[in-house]
Amino acid sequence: MSKKHKISGELNIKRFYLPLKHDSQCPKCSTTNTHDFAFEPLHYPELNNEISIVICCENCNNDYEFKLLLELGVIIK
Ligand SMILES: [Zn+2]
Repeated sequence: MSKKHKISGELNIKRFYLPLKHDSQCPKCSTTNTHDFAFEPLHYPELNNEISIVICCENCNNDYEFKLLLELGVIIK
């Protein structure tokens, strides 16, 4: 019988690369900017706690942010 564990707390990972791309729209000029987590990693990410990602718009250099929540589950079989 398998058991599912939900993990929380800070991961002791200096650079956490994710195979994930996220498109967001600049609130100032409406340009779509792609944030590629495979090239711009999370630093010592904390699980189950909102992480702010600051984007610099490639069109107008406006800084804006979006938030992400990192969850991790482990199933032991
Ligand atoms: Zn912009």
